[in-house]
Amino acid sequence: MNQKNVVGIGNIYASEILFRSSVDPRRLAQTISNSECNLITSNSKIILKEAIKVGGTTLKDFFSAEGSAGYFKIQLNVYDRENEVCVNCENLISKITQNQRASYFCNICQG
Ligand SMILES: [Zn+2]
Repeated sequence: MNQKNVVGIGNIYASEILFRSSVDPRRLAQTISNSECNLITSNSKIILKEAIKVGGTTLKDFFSAEGSAGYFKIQLNVYDRENEVCVNCENLISKITQNQRASYFCNICQG
């Protein structure tokens, strides 16, 4: 999925949102159905709220450079977990690079 279509969401959150939505990050945006699109939108809001709750109080803090304190307080299910066991199944998390950005996903849960 081209992240130009998920404007303003860093690759940490893009990976987490697609995992929760069971959408493979390699899929092209045109192939995403309306119901999947709605799911991605609602999961984006949920993750955004969680991240704001545990991290920065403003969106600016929330989207600040990787490594800021807020990032690692939110439970990451796939991001930076390459070759670790998926939280939902026995599969290992995969990492791919698209447009110079890393995406992490489970190819069973998101297959
Ligand atoms: Zn899985």
